Amino acid sequence: MALTCVAGLGVSGTAVARVLAARGERVVVLEAVEGERQRIAAAELARLGAEVRFGTMDLPEGVTRLVTTGWAPHHPLIAAALAAGVEVVGEVELAWRLRSEPAAPWLALTGTNGKTTAVRMLTSMLLAAGRKAVAVGNVGVPVVEAVTGGTAEPYDVLAVELSSFQLHWSGSLAPHAAALLNVAPDHLDWHGTLEEYAAAKAKIFERAGTVVYNADDPIAARLAAPYEHAVGFTLRTPRAGEIGVVEDLIVDRAFCPDPVHAAEELANLADVHPFAPHNVANALAAAALARSCGVPSEAVRRGLQEFVPDPHRMSFVERVAEVDYVDDSKATNPHAAAASLAAYKSVVWIAGGQLKGADVDELVRQAAPRLRGAVLIGADRGRIAEAMSRHAANVPVVDIADQDTGVMDRVVTEAAALASPGDTVLLAPAGASLDMFAGYPARGEAFARAVRRHGLRREPRT
Ligand code: ADP
Repeated sequence: MALTCVAGLGVSGTAVARVLAARGERVVVLEAVEGERQRIAAAELARLGAEVRFGTMDLPEGVTRLVTTGWAPHHPLIAAALAAGVEVVGEVELAWRLRSEPAAPWLALTGTNGKTTAVRMLTSMLLAAGRKAVAVGNVGVPVVEAVTGGTAEPYDVLAVELSSFQLHWSGSLAPHAAALLNVAPDHLDWHGTLEEYAAAKAKIFERAGTVVYNADDPIAARLAAPYEHAVGFTLRTPRAGEIGVVEDLIVDRAFCPDPVHAAEELANLADVHPFAPHNVANALAAAALARSCGVPSEAVRRGLQEFVPDPHRMSFVERVAEVDYVDDSKATNPHAAAASLAAYKSVVWIAGGQLKGADVDELVRQAAPRLRGAVLIGADRGRIAEAMSRHAANVPVVDIADQDTGVMDRVVTEAAALASPGDTVLLAPAGASLDMFAGYPARGEAFARAVRRHGLRREPRT
């Protein structure tokens, strides 16, 4: 009998093991860490007949398939499986193969930045159109659960967020439509080169019914070029076959009845929030995917109006002494931080963390005219300081050497001292957070708490 090995007891790995064991398949899960959460998951899986082995990454005897959620090819377990000729598939690929007919169509989306935002906007549009829709994949709900009835409801369409890691391990997905938001250097430690990373992203298009791409992003446009059934989206006036912006309107010249001669108004720019050019791009991608499966313009508009952003994405925290404090802790790479900085006129920038090999010169050069000051934290702050000295030599920089997570009060005090009324203090770090925090949410929450304490000191409430 076939034996599947599952890599790790994360949310998706546990879901895979649960689904396969419930189907009567033989499953062994390998997990390095034996903590409270893992023991509970292992006990639940044992009841279903799946085995969990802690503390070993040795490929089980007789294994015929390895399922991973997104481990790198050079991970010893994956490398061993590949060397032994064992098939390696991702959780999303497995989900695609396990779909039960009639299967709900997939609207898939990827990109370096904006995936979660665009997928949530898309889900909001689908719900506004009365579709039974759910956001799955990299947003947190394992796809394998949604397609096999593990989630309570049956859905009639899935909004699927895909990371480059998930796409790397997916070979046969054929979504109804697939969108690529943007491609900028990130995760190069995993993929090796920008070309490999872009190639993983481009896999989303291979069997898609409609290809949706950002016509303003040179790499995305290049990757979509081989496809005839491609719809571009753009912040400029759209050509026939595109979705774009005319004055303060989002208009469709791709899915409307007569795209050559006419355009259909979908929404106002004011319906996009928080308002920033990159969020308009996210809205355009979501609208294109929604329109590809017949969502009417009123539902696109209402979906945008009712959309609730996830935390730590340009989240307004508080106004203190006429200075706005904004938490964009999710800006974990230079491309995201650049988009975030471009949304404000006059900024005190809190940046740093782990740059994952990315270059920050271009980011600093572009942002320099808007910067009133910078407070640098974390492991790679020296690299940002060097870029500041090259491209923003007149901007005051405060270097915070302390790696302690309790340091945020100092960070906020220093940022406040650099800010003038009308400025925005923006946490848009450009780096990952794991050098100092448990993740980007913890970093954002530490910032927000420090801002509130600062506010209480400055403007005590009675
Ligand atoms: P992802 O799921 O791809 O990480 P999110 O929607 O969570 O994307 O947004 C992450 C961060 O990326 C945001 O906090 C913002 O700084 C930035 N961002 C969002 N959309 C875009 C975009 N279209 N282009 C560039 N940066 C973006």
